[in-house]
Amino acid sequence: MGYITKIGLEMHCEVSETKTKVFSSARNEFTDVPNSNVRPLDMAFPGTLPRINKEAVRLALMASMILKCKQPEYMYFERKNYYYPDLPKGFQLTQETKPIPVGIYGEVEFEYNNEIKKIRINNVHLEEDAASLDHFFTTSNIDYNRCGVPLLELVTEPDIHSADEAIAFLEHMRSIYRYAGISEADSKKGQIRCDVNVSIMDDTKDENDPSNWGTKVEIKNVNSFGGVRDAINYEIKRQTELKESGKYDEMLQQTRRWDEESGTTIYMRSKVDAIDYKYFVEPNIPKYKISDSWLEEIRKSIPELALERKQRYVSLGLSEYDANVLVKDKDVSDYFDECLKLGLDAKTATNWVTVQIVGELNKDDSNIKDFFITPSRLKVILDNLSKGILSSKQAKEVFFKVLESHKEPTEFIDINNAQISDAAQIEEIIDQVLARSEQQINDYHNGRTNLFDYFVGQVMKETRGKANPTLTKEILNRKLNN
Ligand code: ADP
Ligand code: MG
Repeated sequence: MGYITKIGLEMHCEVSETKTKVFSSARNEFTDVPNSNVRPLDMAFPGTLPRINKEAVRLALMASMILKCKQPEYMYFERKNYYYPDLPKGFQLTQETKPIPVGIYGEVEFEYNNEIKKIRINNVHLEEDAASLDHFFTTSNIDYNRCGVPLLELVTEPDIHSADEAIAFLEHMRSIYRYAGISEADSKKGQIRCDVNVSIMDDTKDENDPSNWGTKVEIKNVNSFGGVRDAINYEIKRQTELKESGKYDEMLQQTRRWDEESGTTIYMRSKVDAIDYKYFVEPNIPKYKISDSWLEEIRKSIPELALERKQRYVSLGLSEYDANVLVKDKDVSDYFDECLKLGLDAKTATNWVTVQIVGELNKDDSNIKDFFITPSRLKVILDNLSKGILSSKQAKEVFFKVLESHKEPTEFIDINNAQISDAAQIEEIIDQVLARSEQQINDYHNGRTNLFDYFVGQVMKETRGKANPTLTKEILNRKLNN
């Protein structure tokens, strides 16, 4: 008998694309300078009152729509009461699932192992992030920059069955948040954190019946995709061992934390010690009606997401493979779209972007937004390539010279260097070469066929390398062998 793993994720993602925080006027901007994006409200100074950021609500509702959730009629917030210095107010403004947060009962579909996988979404809600703490021996440093940053939390049903599937889901969500302009969703900036719920059950039983599910273990605050993968795999192994030794049924529902260093999950508390947060509706933010017309406006403004872009690229004649490479990173796809806007040929631009440029970016893990060869610089190179002023070899040389020197492509392009592609002109030169090569022609016909390259070389010498090589070979072949 084997086991089925059931995984439910609570994915927290900071909404990075608003100017200010969710209830205060402090800047919502990632910075390395601690405590520089802080207003009195974030510090819970007496007399300060929260004011809701409409743009944060708009983006949260957009996420709710993309996740096919039902949207609420009224927006409201609740206090989740606890005391810890990461939130000086003594509570977090959040949304419990009753009556309805930003969204409930949705689903998201994504490709996984060449199949379409569907994950049900229980709810998505908007809350405020807490400050970040750094502990050193007996002191702790607190950075309030993150305190009050809008945070979207989505809760899935336990429809995920493995660590790899969980990562595929998270990558898909990250792509949605980026394409929709909701968040940069950058784990390196601490913008994504997950609580991971894991249980196992006998594979002979029906997994659609919740009464067959095993006891879930919740792993709190895992802050990287790699961490999510390792924590799930560790937990599956740990729970399987408990099953095998007959101890799984005694296991209490519990909260654990992921310890990166030891690569293990560590017990924190059991469900019976669960904290009572004493939720109640925040009285300083009146619950307000969300109009149908606003919802309609938001729905219409949902930008083109990765899947739609991919379809658009395929309709331009690109292969599925190339289209996938282009949309994998939104910034790369934006760059490519800019190339199309400038009128570059889709297939040529694809080759340059997916091979040359992505190749360069991968070397030092850099972002295409910082790439010196912008779409308009690329256009200069490719226009000269299509006009025959550059051969494809020369175009690549120019590309690398520009990259290295940070000078304009025109510095390296000699417009007098046009390739000769006029057959009559090439033929004339070939005739001159052949007229003075009687001996070589005889040798060639007597079996020294490698002299063909000698004739090509002579033509190139005459034209200083500018004769179109394909045409040259074609004409020479015709002249010598007919
Ligand atoms: P709680 O009451 O502890 O908050 P919820 O029912 O709200 O639990 O679920 C929280 C998360 O745990 C959700 O993502 C859900 O899918 C997941 N979950 C619930 N039951 C299980 C289970 N048996 N195994 C794995 N995940 C589960
Ligand atoms: Mg929460």
